[in-house]
Amino acid sequence: MWRRRGGTFAALAAFFTVAIMFFGIGGASALAVPTAPTDVKGKTFAIATDTTFAPFEFRDGSGELVGIDMDLLRAIATEQGFQVDIKSLGFDAALQAVQSNQVAGVIAGMSITDERKKVFDFSEPYFDSGVQMAVAKNNEDIKTYKDLKGKTVVAKRGSEGETFANSIKDEYGFTVKALADSATMYDDVKAGNSVAVFDDYPVLAYGVSQDNGLKIVTAKEQGSSYGFAVNKGQNQDLLKAFDAGLANLKANGEYQKILDKYLAKAEVQEQGGFFQLVKDSFPALMKGLWLTMVATVLSLAIALVLGVVFGFFKVAESRILRGIATTYVAIFRGTPLLVQAFFFYFGLPQMTGQPLDVLTAGVITLSLNAGAYMTEIVRGGIQSVDAGQLEASRSLGLGYVTSMRRVVVPQAIKIMTPSFINQFVITLKDTSLLAVIGFAELTYQGQQIYATNFRTGETLLIVAALYFIVITALTQLSNLVDRKFNK
Ligand code: GLN
Repeated sequence: MWRRRGGTFAALAAFFTVAIMFFGIGGASALAVPTAPTDVKGKTFAIATDTTFAPFEFRDGSGELVGIDMDLLRAIATEQGFQVDIKSLGFDAALQAVQSNQVAGVIAGMSITDERKKVFDFSEPYFDSGVQMAVAKNNEDIKTYKDLKGKTVVAKRGSEGETFANSIKDEYGFTVKALADSATMYDDVKAGNSVAVFDDYPVLAYGVSQDNGLKIVTAKEQGSSYGFAVNKGQNQDLLKAFDAGLANLKANGEYQKILDKYLAKAEVQEQGGFFQLVKDSFPALMKGLWLTMVATVLSLAIALVLGVVFGFFKVAESRILRGIATTYVAIFRGTPLLVQAFFFYFGLPQMTGQPLDVLTAGVITLSLNAGAYMTEIVRGGIQSVDAGQLEASRSLGLGYVTSMRRVVVPQAIKIMTPSFINQFVITLKDTSLLAVIGFAELTYQGQQIYATNFRTGETLLIVAALYFIVITALTQLSNLVDRKFNK
């Protein structure tokens, strides 16, 4: 007989063991905070930035990250003799990444505010900014904050624009919705889902000059200045080097040159047709597709091992083994993948002081998640082989392990194969969720592209078509293999 009931007691015991382990690590982490380097020369620092915040950070026609922040940071790095590895994560995620020590610093048109000074150390200010409101170009109804009554506006999650909108929403009676990046916010307004957007004035002005479909209707609000930031008390040498470099660039005119380059240049970039877009975006999308495949294959290989191990645990005689497997499945099937991804990339490093690179965090997330489903597939497969098969085999004198290996498992594999193919397709698509932690897979590449060219619909169509083609081809291939071997 197969055991069907998981040992409740053992499950609880295992759950608390896991919980205590996590808290144990969390407690120890207070001691394990990495110490700041003593000198920046020759070192490479990972620096996070926003997805798109033109003219401060955006991608040019060839997919290169450019803009005032990017040029300034690179010029300072050269001047001070260090290297930077820029990670385009999105504004909110960039701040999170600094907090979890995934990166050394952030430059993202980030306003120096008192609230932020509690958790970040800022450089000297390098640009004065302020929040402003824009609406769709053809909107004649909204001209002042008063016209917002009963309407929804959009702002960037975690930004000064969001804080400002929230500070006046009760007075004017509107609702504030938060989105992760400027491109999606502008799309939201153009699509009519929100009537207005609150964003920093130089960014809105640049977007309007690029014909992004919006117009500015209010005067700018008094805002804070932008600064480069590090985690409070950490990477102080980097911060000092930034300030020293900034002062030198201001003195030698380089700083002004960078500003002029982006603020003076406002001519509209020519946009080609759909096929030109396919052609231009192809290299970046192929790079993304490659990473999607790498993450999928690695995760599924690990998930398969987890699935087999815990699947057998689930049908084991031992209550403890069943309890462990049941707990594992309960945790990873009972929480959303997105929460798990955030936990492994931002949460765990914050608790342990040990940064994880994005591929590792992504693969851990996907494999633990898919492993839980695989466990159930394996358990289901084994249990659906008639119990009489094992009994018959054993009565013929074969041992448990041999009977499993020679009689039960071959039959179970046949039953499991379609579910495995299903899980494979699900995991491949799930890799797209890793875009939120800045893993440069296919969806992320697509987002980076429409963040720059504002052609969201067309870009997403190309991305979807690529997923569709790859998944269809791989499903056909798997079915072929299935038919060949599982006759
Ligand atoms: N300056 C704003 C802030 O710091 C917005 C920055 C951004 O969207 N990248 O909150």
